[in-house]
Amino acid sequence: MTETSLKQTRNIGIIAHIDAGKTTVTERILYYSGKKHKVGEVHEGEAEMDWMEQEKERGVTITSAATTIFWETKSQGDIKINIIDTPGHIDFTAEVQRSLRVLDGGVVVFDGVAGVEPQSETVWHQADKFKVPLIAFVNKLDRTGADFYFDMKSIHERLTKNAIPIQLPIGTEADFNGIIDLLEEKAIIYLDEMGKETETREIPTEMKEQATKYRHDLIEKIVENDEELMQKYLANEEIKVTELEQALRKAVTSRSIVPVFCGSALKNKGIQPLLEAICKYLPSPLDVPAIKEAVDEEEEENKQERKTRKADKNASFSALIFKIATDPFVGRLCYFRIYSGKLEAGSYVLNSSTGKKERIGRIVRMHANKREEVKEILAGDIAAIVGLKNTTTGDTLCSLDDPIILESITFPDPVISVAVEPKTKSDQEKMGVAINKLSEEDPTFKVRTDEETLQTIISGMGELHLEIIIDRMKREFNVEANVGRPQVAYKETITKEVETEGKYIHQSGGRGQYGHCLLRLTPLERGKGFVFEDEIKGGSIPREYIPAIKKGVIEAMSTGVVAGYPIVDMSVAVYDGSFHEVDSSEAAFKVAATRGIRKGVEEADPVLLEPIMKIEIAAPGDFMGDVIGDLNSKRAQIQETEAREKIKIIKAIVPLGEMFGYTTTLRSITEGRGNSSMEFHCYSPVPKNIQKKLTDKDEE
Ligand code: GDP
Repeated sequence: MTETSLKQTRNIGIIAHIDAGKTTVTERILYYSGKKHKVGEVHEGEAEMDWMEQEKERGVTITSAATTIFWETKSQGDIKINIIDTPGHIDFTAEVQRSLRVLDGGVVVFDGVAGVEPQSETVWHQADKFKVPLIAFVNKLDRTGADFYFDMKSIHERLTKNAIPIQLPIGTEADFNGIIDLLEEKAIIYLDEMGKETETREIPTEMKEQATKYRHDLIEKIVENDEELMQKYLANEEIKVTELEQALRKAVTSRSIVPVFCGSALKNKGIQPLLEAICKYLPSPLDVPAIKEAVDEEEEENKQERKTRKADKNASFSALIFKIATDPFVGRLCYFRIYSGKLEAGSYVLNSSTGKKERIGRIVRMHANKREEVKEILAGDIAAIVGLKNTTTGDTLCSLDDPIILESITFPDPVISVAVEPKTKSDQEKMGVAINKLSEEDPTFKVRTDEETLQTIISGMGELHLEIIIDRMKREFNVEANVGRPQVAYKETITKEVETEGKYIHQSGGRGQYGHCLLRLTPLERGKGFVFEDEIKGGSIPREYIPAIKKGVIEAMSTGVVAGYPIVDMSVAVYDGSFHEVDSSEAAFKVAATRGIRKGVEEADPVLLEPIMKIEIAAPGDFMGDVIGDLNSKRAQIQETEAREKIKIIKAIVPLGEMFGYTTTLRSITEGRGNSSMEFHCYSPVPKNIQKKLTDKDEE
């Protein structure tokens, strides 16, 4: 295959909440770009991006596979588009974030009936956070109740004033049969229901006036973002369509305009123009800022100049691993985006995140239904490496002689956990393998063994997240297991500063033990984690024992004194101590530190912290009283309510511990008409009475 220039490359994601039609849009894109010969409907479970069993059953897209297609544009020749699949459910935060991290642009799909839903807001904000340039696609205009202008209004109200239609639908619901291209001033007419045959015509007379008005608004918006065109516009000079397109492309890249397209993926309408738009308006790897190297917080404060890597195939090689997947045929696949230089199969690179040298075996480019082996991959592209053993999500690969660590992806800690008990010995073995594989693929999925019960505890970002993991263990690895009730991942912290002493001294006969340290424990702000400071001056404790003290501290912090949960947001300073020439050892100092922490934490008024979630609920107004009443009984704080047409939206924060099974509760309160989306907000102290209940229960 010939090399595609960077200018001819797009790395995009199709971003939508569940059910807006992302899978259908993606499929139609694959179909029209010629990589696929049969259009598979989602309800028949044929969607090729969703190859995992339970995705087919649930109809949700979980993994983030990257698929390469080619589209022949009218004006720019063949464009290579790498589509990075982004899941729409908030429980899969990690999946969404790591895919957004490597995209250059996104297509946000909206449901033409529902407009902006709570979950569309969530995905939109995530795209905002990563500064992804966006175009919007209002889908499902064939459905009863569809209204493009309602969607526009809700996008303006809830997401951005910068959204502006670049197309208008002709007809609506069952009569939706064409699309007006406002820039070209043409109409695409679909001659049959399934959009098989089209004709380009003049704008229908009855829509001329409306189209002229919308075109006028669009042009004003575009020239506002381009000094030169603005001059021409004010001087009443003619502006060519190509000039407008170029200016629009710049405005999309700088995120000052979000052009809105329309169609019906199911009825094959509006997909080719959307593909054309992806190529025309979304940035190529050359249009986006160069990637920066990672810095830690301290360095950032010192405002050091950060190294960058431009998308240039002649620069030193650097790439970021954004996804590990297990392919049923070739095994472990590391998906990567190459930011600079080139990567050849068979070459050696440095994993700068681990410091280890790695050999690149095979490189594959993934298409929806086949994989293609390639010899090399150039800057700006996305592909997968087969068989890298010691590399995980977020790692940087780079050339051996010019190392760099790229800005990585940070993942939130899991907030919910569940005990899983294999049914038989052989299930136990299989479960070990399964858990290893799954946690490798997903950095927000964690596993530990409960020291008291010896149960395996798995944790993740939400109930659905864990359900799917357990489901995969069963299906892909044949593990039969009993699953406990989900538990909240509590944490502990201290609330006042204390000074404490840790001693481990045994000196009766033979070689003794001598470890002794004075520690100061200070509460830190929420989310700051753990800080260790060495304040030893004058050698009261020899240097070589400090790491052992730190180890002891970390070990002690893994089980708190309130209810055995990990201690967080605490700074520990070792400021004094003593040692013995003969009897002191690393082991003795480690024990001394552990004891010091246990004692100190007891005295520092420890409290239990619980995860608090942000929730947004949408339901018809009639049910509001019941929904709010129920929330109040769950210790929720209602922050905002707002009315949108007949739907009311409630925004609240609420402890996760109260929210198990909420989807079902809400369904029954609202007769199935409410929906909600929940995401992690913060950790916060558990009220004293609840803490008492929780700790009493533990003692039972
Ligand atoms: P996803 O969850 O965002 O991937 O959405 P899907 O592509 O799975 O679509 C959700 C449902 O909406 C499926 O039943 C689709 O058949 C249906 N759907 C998708 N696009 C359209 C459309 O343009 N018109 C209509 N009427 N239904 C659609």
